[in-house]
Amino acid sequence: MKHKNQVFDNLLDLIGHTPLIKLNKIASKFKGNFYAKVESFNPGHSSKDRIALYIIEQAEKKGILTPGDTIIETTSGNTGFSIAMVSIIKGYDCVLAVSSKSSADKIDMLKTMGAKVYVCPAHVSADDPRSYYQVAKRLHEEIKGSVYINQYFNKLNIDAHYNSTGPEIWKQTEGKITHLVACSGTGGTISGTAKYLKEQNPNIKVIGVDAFGSVIKKYHETREFDEKEIYPYRIEGLGKNLIPTATDFDVIDEFVKVTDEESAHTARLIAKSEGLFVGYTSGAAMQAIMQLGEDGEFKKEDNIVIIFPDHGSRYMSKVYSDKWMNEQGFFDSKNEAAAQNIQYIK
Ligand code: PMP
Repeated sequence: MKHKNQVFDNLLDLIGHTPLIKLNKIASKFKGNFYAKVESFNPGHSSKDRIALYIIEQAEKKGILTPGDTIIETTSGNTGFSIAMVSIIKGYDCVLAVSSKSSADKIDMLKTMGAKVYVCPAHVSADDPRSYYQVAKRLHEEIKGSVYINQYFNKLNIDAHYNSTGPEIWKQTEGKITHLVACSGTGGTISGTAKYLKEQNPNIKVIGVDAFGSVIKKYHETREFDEKEIYPYRIEGLGKNLIPTATDFDVIDEFVKVTDEESAHTARLIAKSEGLFVGYTSGAAMQAIMQLGEDGEFKKEDNIVIIFPDHGSRYMSKVYSDKWMNEQGFFDSKNEAAAQNIQYIK
């Protein structure tokens, strides 16, 4: 547990125990009490610190990893950063295969954290040899003594959240949580957290957030992998063009889809209304709340927990860049002018 005046042996002791913060303004037009689990308070600024530490420590316990070994992963950035951070402290080499959709900031950060980075094309199928999955697999075969974290297909990803995020939320809400709303990428966060929470109270409603252009929502509803659902979208870390086994579809009650544009505006609104500078998928999760709220999902006595997975600083060249927003056409349909809050004195 974190204590204010405590000295820590290293950063790893600070992973988890993130705050649950009441949202006082952004959803005030809806019934219910809304709380954000703000994962940017982890030392690596995202929820992925939890899985990096947990999976690496499980491998150590099994004797698979010893200092000097190499850890390999595919990642949109956050998991890579967390693995690189844990690797530095524990003495491993870190090799990452990332999607070209990842922001330049994220790739620069990974390199700064000592990782060797392979940037792979985003819009190729998962079985294409250029995809980041295939590149990681090949590197794992080539590098002796390497461990492949494989977060999309590793059940330990679920266990990490079952053992930390779930119990934390249960304690923080004193068991009064009624809804959990979380983005689904690998599905580890929502599945592990939901599994723990539903074991405490099976009536808790678990709502996943998916992107238009992803197969996850349809798979949940029909158990059909429909390739026709797939098209490029901009939000990083949310939705998928494959079905991850790190998602336990049985503990999720429903999925809501959100657009790139509305999620981007909602991310900006979280900052302006709550003072919380969080990432693009936090905007997506909050956008799902807006849609559910409009549909009358919530009652006055409900306690809704929304997971905000990472920090806004990772999106300065995207959602928080007026130039990027303009390029996407995101300012066209909204009245938020790019220059609204800035004046140039000449
Ligand atoms: N948001 C961001 C920014 C992410 O990087 C991820 C992970 N891909 C998620 C949300 C989704 O978390 P999970 O993989 O546990 O479903």
